[in-house]
Amino acid sequence: MRIYSSQTHAKATFEPIEPGRVRMYVCGPTVYDNIHIGNARTFISFDVIRRWLIASGYEVTFAQNLTDVDDKIINRANEQGRTSEDVAREFSDRFIDIMRRANVLDPDVRPRATGEIGSMIGMIKSLIEQGHAYAAKNGDVYFAVRSDEGYGSVSGRRIDDLMVGARIEENEDKRDPLDFALWKAAKPGEPSWPSPWGQGRPGWHTECAAMVHRYLGVPIDIHGGGSDLAFPHHENECAQASCAWHEGFANIWMHTGMLLVDGEKMSKSLGNFFTLEEVLEKHSAAALRLLMAQTHYRSPLDFSWERLEGAESSLARIGGTADNLRWAANHATGAADPELAAGLAAAIEAARTEFRTQMDDDFNTAGAVAALFTLITEANTYLERAAGAVDAAVATDCADAIASLFATLGIELPERVSVLPRELVDVAARLVGFTGEDVDAAASAVLEARAAARAAKDWTRADAIRDELTAIGLAVEDTAAGSRIKRA
Ligand code: AMP
Ligand code: ZN
Repeated sequence: MRIYSSQTHAKATFEPIEPGRVRMYVCGPTVYDNIHIGNARTFISFDVIRRWLIASGYEVTFAQNLTDVDDKIINRANEQGRTSEDVAREFSDRFIDIMRRANVLDPDVRPRATGEIGSMIGMIKSLIEQGHAYAAKNGDVYFAVRSDEGYGSVSGRRIDDLMVGARIEENEDKRDPLDFALWKAAKPGEPSWPSPWGQGRPGWHTECAAMVHRYLGVPIDIHGGGSDLAFPHHENECAQASCAWHEGFANIWMHTGMLLVDGEKMSKSLGNFFTLEEVLEKHSAAALRLLMAQTHYRSPLDFSWERLEGAESSLARIGGTADNLRWAANHATGAADPELAAGLAAAIEAARTEFRTQMDDDFNTAGAVAALFTLITEANTYLERAAGAVDAAVATDCADAIASLFATLGIELPERVSVLPRELVDVAARLVGFTGEDVDAAASAVLEARAAARAAKDWTRADAIRDELTAIGLAVEDTAAGSRIKRA
């Protein structure tokens, strides 16, 4: 498996620190509002990455924080006349819920900033003792950026270039304009905790470094987030951790490309956002994930409702093919042509191999999905050529391969359209004297009766059968693989 490191700008063969195990961390949201689908793009990308590592046999430990104390939360609480704890609790719950609805696996560890104050204070103390941080007169504690020789290595910035921008907002409590706050002195009415430097709260960059150390141990294999977090957030996380513990921080930095609307980054501040909740009200999580999988995680992703609708119809077609394969396997009309079946078996094998090759190449989901689309075309061609006389084992294997490879990407195919309602048993009993409980057997009996009526040109009976089916929401579809009853 090869993974691209955004620090070295190159792909390299993945070698975990501990054989067979992967420890990864992805920065979580600041819980002051509902997340938008730009945020979701990053979380879904890392969910797919994690799923592929697991599918490849690694034991993965995945940690993700919730930033539940921050200026944005405090501002939102003040606007709404609520406490900041209340706002944070509401949006943490909503985040956890919407991630599950998007079929994102829960992290193994989900620390909250407010539950980690002790370990953050410990890290800051150690940084001060080692000369990498200092307490200022105003009660803030700053990290001394120039004390870290490696500063800039995560995001590829040079300190001198950074100085040009930093001079604009000089702060007399800082020794150097580049220094950043590890601890912020309390302001009246804000949440705060006691510390050796007085009442205050941690800075944003501090929590991730302390949590990674506490829950995963440094260095970790993979640290991820959106590309907009590389500087300053990840740079600052890395500076603190490397100066506090001297063991390195993350072997591989992975950054996702931004989700765009009309060429612009989707963001709260631009107002060009759709919340994940509103998108999942209109569309399935599978369609959204398919849309996302069709672009490599590092590339920018253009979002539009048209593209999402396109993904939804692709998904219905994919589900339809899987379903046709299963149906044809259960209703084979004659001896299968072994050459045709061998052709489909080879196509399944080729698709599995290509899927793995693409995913092993820096999680190229776009290539992996393309391999599945090729298999779907092959499957449709097979069904057409076999004209009902399908090889049940190969057709079932093909349907399983399609469903399970999509599931590896966290994409669940739509519910099988061939799952027919129980009422069909009653209809079959009335129409053809069917006895028994099996819905599929009832469907076959009704189809046989319809075929016999048509063969005898008994149109009254054929129409009566159709009308009974229509009355319970079903229809007959005549396909190359034979006729079948489906939901209308
Ligand atoms: P935040 O709560 O702002 O820290 O964002 C949570 C995550 O979403 C971070 O990893 C961001 O990098 C990521 N993110 C924010 N906007 C976008 C976007 N438009 N496209 C992709 N990822 C984004
Ligand atoms: Zn972070």
